[in-house]
Amino acid sequence: MSDDATIAAERIEVLAEQAREAARTDHPDRARECVRRARRVAERHRLSLPASFERFVCDRCDAYLCPGRNARVRTQSGHVVVTCECGSQARYPYADSQ
Ligand SMILES: [Zn+2]
Repeated sequence: MSDDATIAAERIEVLAEQAREAARTDHPDRARECVRRARRVAERHRLSLPASFERFVCDRCDAYLCPGRNARVRTQSGHVVVTCECGSQARYPYADSQ
């Protein structure tokens, strides 16, 4: 990985942390803005978002998902199904820890 990509990856980590903090402290608009900035950095550098971040982000509306707050989480036949308040659903294999 080039230095440039390393710096980009670090910025994405910082934005992910800021999004998490904003969502936790009830600032969904700020969280969404951090998510969008992280996506832009990732796209520009052809990086993918870390799985641990992507999993908490809505594909449709870019909300940072807080289970019990703006997202519903349930398990269904070996999958975790996360439903955003916008209605978008994401499914992940249950056993996959990353
Ligand atoms: Zn959504």
